Amino acid sequence: MIEGVQGFQAGRISQPELSALYDAAVQDTIRRLEATGSPVITDGEQAKHSFATYSIYGLETLSPDGVPISFADGHIRKLPRLTAGPFRYKTPADVYLDMAQRYAHVPLKQAVVSASALSLLYPQGGIRGYSREQYLEALIAEQEGEIRRCLEKGAHVVQMDFTEGRLSIKLDPTRRLLHSFIDLNNLVLERFSGEERRRIGVHTCPGADRHSTHSADVDYADLLPSLFDLKATNFYVQLASEPDRKRVLKMIREHAKNVHRIFVGVIDPLNPRVETPEEVRDRVLEAAEYIRPDRLGTTDDCGFAPFSDDTSRTRETAFDKIRARVAGTALASTMLGLE
Ligand SMILES: [Zn+2]
Repeated sequence: MIEGVQGFQAGRISQPELSALYDAAVQDTIRRLEATGSPVITDGEQAKHSFATYSIYGLETLSPDGVPISFADGHIRKLPRLTAGPFRYKTPADVYLDMAQRYAHVPLKQAVVSASALSLLYPQGGIRGYSREQYLEALIAEQEGEIRRCLEKGAHVVQMDFTEGRLSIKLDPTRRLLHSFIDLNNLVLERFSGEERRRIGVHTCPGADRHSTHSADVDYADLLPSLFDLKATNFYVQLASEPDRKRVLKMIREHAKNVHRIFVGVIDPLNPRVETPEEVRDRVLEAAEYIRPDRLGTTDDCGFAPFSDDTSRTRETAFDKIRARVAGTALASTMLGLE
């Protein structure tokens, strides 16, 4: 798949050939995820350029020199920069949902990138004839449409990826940036009814790319109280890689609202060692001491290659880890009397 994308960029393979590769990757991923027994699956974002830029990839009003995201090992990912308006998504997430639904037999969770991440496309110096306000208004409308179509088309849940939440505290320790991100995302979330928001979730993590994170050194205590101000119901919280999980679980217990469902990360995609089902079981039981079992779920801490070209983990390892998550979660469910 990675070679195919490179071949397409170099003009060696055609758009239909690339589309066929994406299609095959989505189909294979769904088949293998279903084989793990997971009650809800995703398409593994196999057809996306990256978790952050899938909706805008190929737009002609972008230049590659946008906001840099620095990882702990020194490597940098750059967001694109918007050069002109008006702004429209090119490939919203429901297009990927359509593709996944052709193959899936179990409910699908659909990931979308947050409005706050894409707000960073607008340059500090402004764009002549297209104000930041105009951009944000268009962005909010695009994301509302994207999420609404995913819900209407039958996504089990829509997960907003909010990796920049924790990162924002590193960029601005006053947390003004964090609060502006949360306010912006709430402008999107408030457009949905309470019933619709039961099927909307938010993912938080310190980033995961090429063995490295961008904000694991930011204390969760600076993020979690505000995170739960987001008007979503489901929270997918990186936890497996935290050095002091009990401390984080205490904070979740304190700040999450009664209606929130908490999916705790039980798999660390950056760690090459495959977790055992028993380890996963114990992590769930530990979490159940702090979060009522009927409000508790499990997830992976983050994606295995959110920027799509990360080969630091093999596909086999990723599926081994997911199998351990599913098996360990089932063991814990039995012990908690949920099955
Ligand atoms: Zn993540």
